Amino acid sequence: KPRIFSGIQPSGNLTLGNYLGALKRFAQKQDEGIETIYCLVDMHAITVWQDPEALRRQTREAAAAFIASGVDPSKSILFNQSQVGAHAELAWLFNCTARLGWMNRMTQFKDKAGKNAEKASLGLYAYPALMAADILLYHATMVPVGEDQKQHVELTRDIANKFNHDFGVDFFPEPEPLIEGAATRVMSLRDGSKKMSKSDPSDASRINLTDDADTIAKKFRKARTDAEPLPETVDGLSERPEARNLVNIYAALADMTSAQVVAEFAGKGFGDFKPALADLAVDKLAPISTEMKRLMDDVTEIDRILGKGAEQADAIARPIVEKTYDIMGMVRSR
Ligand code: ATP
Ligand code: MG
Repeated sequence: KPRIFSGIQPSGNLTLGNYLGALKRFAQKQDEGIETIYCLVDMHAITVWQDPEALRRQTREAAAAFIASGVDPSKSILFNQSQVGAHAELAWLFNCTARLGWMNRMTQFKDKAGKNAEKASLGLYAYPALMAADILLYHATMVPVGEDQKQHVELTRDIANKFNHDFGVDFFPEPEPLIEGAATRVMSLRDGSKKMSKSDPSDASRINLTDDADTIAKKFRKARTDAEPLPETVDGLSERPEARNLVNIYAALADMTSAQVVAEFAGKGFGDFKPALADLAVDKLAPISTEMKRLMDDVTEIDRILGKGAEQADAIARPIVEKTYDIMGMVRSR
């Protein structure tokens, strides 16, 4: 049975970008006869500072978002990364496989470290080796992610390939990124050249899954755009990143193509389009945030699900990391 792995960092409020680029598709994959493993990657989250109490809450809230978006713990394995020690173990082994030169090409590190890279954590730099471990620990071959993670999945392929080559084995498969849908890179509402991120300091830059209807409407109303009406065809959006972003969001939420959205709103101004978009977003997100709130009322249920998921994940991961140690020549005697 083919296996999918993907993760989300519990590093803040989950956004509409996380939902359209990742979460929404996670639920769909469960019913395609594929084994699905989904992870709250708390060890990735701590590559930048996380307040301990906030991290605990964000992890449970992210778990609630998965479940509320349709990830069913009886169909998928859902757990938080730090409860399965094999992730950290394989990441170390891959730190010794990956090359500094490969890490130096990673654009996410450059974006997140900013100008003062000397002050970034070593973990932030090594992030892609941990991500490769997350995926390869399960021999997963498909990784549903947003456009921004494509480079890291490609690096995972390089690590798998080099490991196999170095040790003369055919042990790790080379996974494929699955980047699908109309909104694989949702942009910030304040800056059409930056992706929407849960860690962006500006709350106005993103729609949070927990935003109420008024907040969603207000954020779309204030979203940066040009003054032109919507064009007749999608080609007319090519030089208009903010307009294109809103059209793509609409399309992904409505399960339409961007061409269909443009055809429906051709010639209309943002005064008409933004309220329609806000209504659609509220329609799709309100049931999710309601269910998240319900789940967060009693976190024992969430903790139980994560614990059970961690046991299931460990049962797959432990033999694979043990085999990796063995291939590398480490004595296994217990
Ligand atoms: P952070 O700012 O902490 O990195 P993030 O919003 O980028 O948070 P991640 O946890 O890094 O979220 O990524 C989780 C998943 O969401 C990944 O599959 C990623 O590709 C996807 N994703 C993140 N941002 C977007 C976006 N703007 N559009 C589409 N997909 C996205
Ligand atoms: Mg990110």
